[in-house]
Amino acid sequence: MRSKLYWFLSKFDGLIRRNYSDRLRVLAYHKVPDERAFEEQIIYLKSHYNIISIPELKRHIYDKADLPKNPLLITFDDGDISVIEKGLPILKKHSIESCLFIITGLINTSNDVWISSVEQKEMKNGKSYQDARKVVSLFKSMSNRDRVVKMRDYPEVDKQQLNTDDLKKLQKNGMYIGNHTHTHPMLDKCSSQEIMKEMNSSKQVFDELELPGYNIFAYPNGNADDNTNKTLIDANIDFIFLFDHKINPAVLDHHNISRIRVDSDNKLAEFKAKVSGLHPLMFNLKNNN
Ligand SMILES: [Zn+2]
Repeated sequence: MRSKLYWFLSKFDGLIRRNYSDRLRVLAYHKVPDERAFEEQIIYLKSHYNIISIPELKRHIYDKADLPKNPLLITFDDGDISVIEKGLPILKKHSIESCLFIITGLINTSNDVWISSVEQKEMKNGKSYQDARKVVSLFKSMSNRDRVVKMRDYPEVDKQQLNTDDLKKLQKNGMYIGNHTHTHPMLDKCSSQEIMKEMNSSKQVFDELELPGYNIFAYPNGNADDNTNKTLIDANIDFIFLFDHKINPAVLDHHNISRIRVDSDNKLAEFKAKVSGLHPLMFNLKNNN
C-alpha cells in the first residue's frame, strides 16, 4: 500500500519541482548501509536538482549571492562510520559536497550515543526492540537532568567512532563538518545553562581540531523551540537545521532551516516522493490534524 502511494506521489515530482524551484531542500540522512541504493539516489539528485554546499549557503545568506534553481543540500547526522566508509567514496565519485553533523563528545572514542546504551540494556533484560524504543522515547521526554541521573544505570556501549584523521579527510573531500552538540541531549528538555555547557564543550572540540563548523548546527532528534533557538543564537550558532520533514520557504530563515528525513536505503519512488516535498506535505498535514 505504502509503495503504491510513493509510486503515485513520485509521478508528480517534476510538477512540484517546477513550481517550487526557488525552495531550498535539505536532506537529512543518518547511515549509509547500502552503497548501491545510495548511489542510485545520488544519480537521481544530480540530474534533477542543483546540489549546493555549506560555503554556497553561507554566501547566499551573508553576501546575498543567488542560489541555483532547485537547490538541494545533503546532510548527515550523528557521524556514523558508514558515512566515511560507504558514503564518501560515492559522493567523491560524483563530485558532490555535503555536510556531516557530529556529536563532538564521541569523536576519538569507542562509545555509542546514549540512546544505544538504553536500547541495549533493555534488550539484554528481555525487552523487544520496539519495547526498548519505548523506554528511549520516555527518556527523550524527561528533563535532561533526570535523564542524566537515570543514565547512571546504563553502561556505555562500544561503537567505532570517527577520529581526528577521519574528520580532516571528510572536510578535505567536501564534507563540511558541522555541530550536533557534545552529548546529543534533547535541547528542549535542557536548561539554558545545560545548552550553553553543551555548546562550550563542542566549541572546544571544533577549536582543538581546527575545524570551522561550530556555528553550523543541527538539533538532536529535531527537538527545537523558541527558547532553545534563542540560546543557540546567544552561543553564536548561526545556521540552525531542524528535522521537521519540510522544504524551506522561498525566503530562507537561516536560524530555522527545514530538513527532509530520508534514508539511504529508501526505494527510489519513496525517495523521489520525499525529496519533492509532496510526502512531507502530506505527512505534516496528517500530523497537524
Ligand atoms: Zn542525531
